[in-house]
Amino acid sequence: MNKTITLAHGNGGAENNELISKVFYKAFKNDILEKSEDAAVIHNGELAFSTDSFTVSPLFFNGADIGKLAVCGTCNDLAMMGAKPKYLTCSVIIEEGFEIRSLEKIVRSMKEELKKNDAIIVSGDTKVVPKGSVDKIFINTTGIGEIQYKGISSNNVNEDDLILVSRDIGAHGATIFAAREGMDLETSLKSDCTSLYPQVEALIKAGIKITALRDATRGGVSAVLNEWAKQSNVCIEVEEEKIPICDEVKGICEMLGFEAMSLANEGTFVLAIPKEHAKKAIDVLHTFEVAHNATIIGKVTQQYEQKVILNSSWGTKRFLDTPTGELLPRIC
Ligand code: MG
Repeated sequence: MNKTITLAHGNGGAENNELISKVFYKAFKNDILEKSEDAAVIHNGELAFSTDSFTVSPLFFNGADIGKLAVCGTCNDLAMMGAKPKYLTCSVIIEEGFEIRSLEKIVRSMKEELKKNDAIIVSGDTKVVPKGSVDKIFINTTGIGEIQYKGISSNNVNEDDLILVSRDIGAHGATIFAAREGMDLETSLKSDCTSLYPQVEALIKAGIKITALRDATRGGVSAVLNEWAKQSNVCIEVEEEKIPICDEVKGICEMLGFEAMSLANEGTFVLAIPKEHAKKAIDVLHTFEVAHNATIIGKVTQQYEQKVILNSSWGTKRFLDTPTGELLPRIC
């Protein structure tokens, strides 16, 4: 490992995983942490507990802002464990000189998104640092949720499951990139940032069996599938032509050489659902406007050990590896 931290250490991909296991897991090692789930399952399996920090730049972008992101990010990690988000904390680090009006706008967004989750902020902290010590504002949220469906785990994906994605991928990453580059052309492109608990709740209420859920944030769908392949010791095979990608995201990827599968999402999740329930799960997701193009993208096999394979429509295969390097820092 490098002697100093690089931007790649925060990429949600290979370098990030290495840093976490060699520094944090090494020091904090315990059974709950080592499960590496989206949220820790605590209190006899009744509660989910998660934390996330937000450093996105720019603070405001098409489809969301840092406030909405800060609530969605933590609530979605709870939802991915089948938990109903309940109580959040909010901790902010603000740079001297930051406009109160912008802060109010961010807090309004947080309030709106909390309402969608029926969750509340119950504790917080405010730090102000001298100009230049931080860029405008960083936010941390921590959340507790009540588990409504037990047993969801990234360590249980197996050959009885199909792999689903809840909508077209890569919109958040492409939107942030376009905003930073001042690409006004992409007017219809907006972040997918949204609260996912309503979709998870509908799946649970419909009696769908769920093996694993994971929101495809940093590192995108590619990171999620590779984590599942490793944690569950399986091979995941994805049909490339079945992966939904909107034209704007395709355009940005072609222009800049990005892989849509590795672009960040903030309201898109990957599901591992037992075969006999997969079609019904898609029907339930389709009742949500944001998930109107949810689809089955792949299956679980034992063809290669802990690998993700992309099958092209021409019959060729290639490995989809965990993303490395960092092309888009401060995406969330
Ligand atoms: Mg997550």
